[in-house]
Amino acid sequence: MRCPYCGEDSDKVTDTRPSRGGELVRRRRECLHCGRRYTTYEKVEEPELKVVKRDGRRERFDRVKIMTGLEKACEKRPISHDQLETVVARVETELRNRLGDEVESSEIGELLMQELADLDDVAYVRFASVYQQFAHTDQFTDALRRLREERRRRRTRKKPEEGQTLF
Ligand SMILES: [Zn+2]
Repeated sequence: MRCPYCGEDSDKVTDTRPSRGGELVRRRRECLHCGRRYTTYEKVEEPELKVVKRDGRRERFDRVKIMTGLEKACEKRPISHDQLETVVARVETELRNRLGDEVESSEIGELLMQELADLDDVAYVRFASVYQQFAHTDQFTDALRRLREERRRRRTRKKPEEGQTLF
């Protein structure tokens, strides 16, 4: 590691310890040229996840962007910020556990729709209308049909949740 004082690239590590709960490793180094000491921090490089958009362009997976979309869909709905954070984290983990470092934006959309189907009917339909860019009313009807199907599929997997639905 190049010395910040004299610029020489020869040093020895004098101390190594975890920092920020293990997220970082902090190392004290001593320059073998000028003898001064400095500190470096080492961090795991998070594998980059790329999103392939509809038009074929690729961009970095962006949690903030996903969160913004969800918040818009859930505006004035009884869904907390924490719930949405959990959704984003779960979807991201699911995507990162898949093979490869690229995902289609449509896959993200589908996962988010599944999550919203569990959370809130109104948010689901709002999100679907933006995500699928409804141009016709029959697409809206289609989204409702898919929500019901999604529910039915879930009911076979787990017990239905208490509470009323809109449809
Ligand atoms: Zn030096």
